[in-house]
Amino acid sequence: MKHGTRKIETEVIHSGYNADHHLGSLSMPIFQTSTFTFRNAEQGEMRFKGEEEGYVYSRLGNPTVRSLEEKMAIMEAGEAALAFSSGMAAVSATLISLTKANDHIICSQGIYGCTFGLLQLMEEKYNITHDFCAMETEEQLRALIRPETVCIYVETPINPTMKLVDLSLVVKVANEYGLQVVVDNTFSSPYLQQPLVLGCDIVLHSATKYICGHGDVIAGVVVGKKDFIENMAVTTQKDIGGVLAPFDAWLLLRGLKTLPVRMDRHCENAERLFQKLNMHPSVERVYYPGNVQHPDYPIMAKQMKKGGGLISFEIKGSKKDAQRVLNALDLIKIAVSLGDAETLIQHPATMTHSVIPAQERVEMGITDQLIRLSVGLEAWEDIWDDLSQALDTIL
Ligand SMILES: *Cc1c(COP(=O)(O)O)cnc(C)c1O
Repeated sequence: MKHGTRKIETEVIHSGYNADHHLGSLSMPIFQTSTFTFRNAEQGEMRFKGEEEGYVYSRLGNPTVRSLEEKMAIMEAGEAALAFSSGMAAVSATLISLTKANDHIICSQGIYGCTFGLLQLMEEKYNITHDFCAMETEEQLRALIRPETVCIYVETPINPTMKLVDLSLVVKVANEYGLQVVVDNTFSSPYLQQPLVLGCDIVLHSATKYICGHGDVIAGVVVGKKDFIENMAVTTQKDIGGVLAPFDAWLLLRGLKTLPVRMDRHCENAERLFQKLNMHPSVERVYYPGNVQHPDYPIMAKQMKKGGGLISFEIKGSKKDAQRVLNALDLIKIAVSLGDAETLIQHPATMTHSVIPAQERVEMGITDQLIRLSVGLEAWEDIWDDLSQALDTIL
């Protein structure tokens, strides 16, 4: 079969693995080894010089991890990928690779809390500064670009308000100034959105979420050009050391095979729940980019296959009422994280976004009434039964 002719649903199952190389094993074996033996001293020398292909030590590469990296590169339509021990290991290795002291980064408004923490650390230690930008117009972006600017860092959809950033707009401006565009694609997964196809340079994931899909691994992945990834492999990954364990890579390989099937169901359930939530008297407002009522729906239609599995909604009432809703749930679990088979619910103002000062938080649209739902794979009727009885308690 010619490479690139198969659909993503097929690639995610078959790419990055050849059973003939592994005694016919249908599933990729777990190479649970720290090191690799050399036949003789000369082979060791050749491996270290890079004159012979092969493995040396699992921090520098492992066959199970490599298989995941090949699959992820194909999923994101990139040249190469690198797996990490967490999403934050992927984010930090990427940002450290792209910057030097005194550089400048432009970020979308609303980025993952620990990414924000990392940016603050980089500013304190290395004077690598950052500005946030709504990125609604080219002018807003251009106004922030300085000679020190090296990259534009984007999350879309933005957590937890589900606002979208138009990636083609960002790419257009970035190309004019020779800036790298980095996209945290965790919320969409490569099944729903492929930023590299839209002209972005680097895509990264907290693979802990949809890539894994089963809530049992912490992991990260970066996908991009071969040169960039190869350089990261021998610098920020090899020397900082946030590598993925072979068993965790295997769990991700297993999870990935069902990514398209899972994403379709997450989206279908989310669309159903959006309709129901919209009509419930305890609910003030629902944020879901997959619906035409969302102001960013045109952007969604342009760059995403579907709206995704996350919904946020504001209840009528107080912070106490929001907590009352969470406490009244039975099937739906109160937890941060997302993308799992189980439907998860959390209260951003007191959980994921609690470190942001109240005033700033409200300006970002994260009120005390806002609740975020990671829609799982259960029957949507059962999710709704639980959610609606909990919402009824604050009527
Ligand atoms: C969870 C998450 C991260 C961090 O990933 P970890 O795997 O928890 O280190 C980064 N970005 C986004 C959007 C996330 O949801």
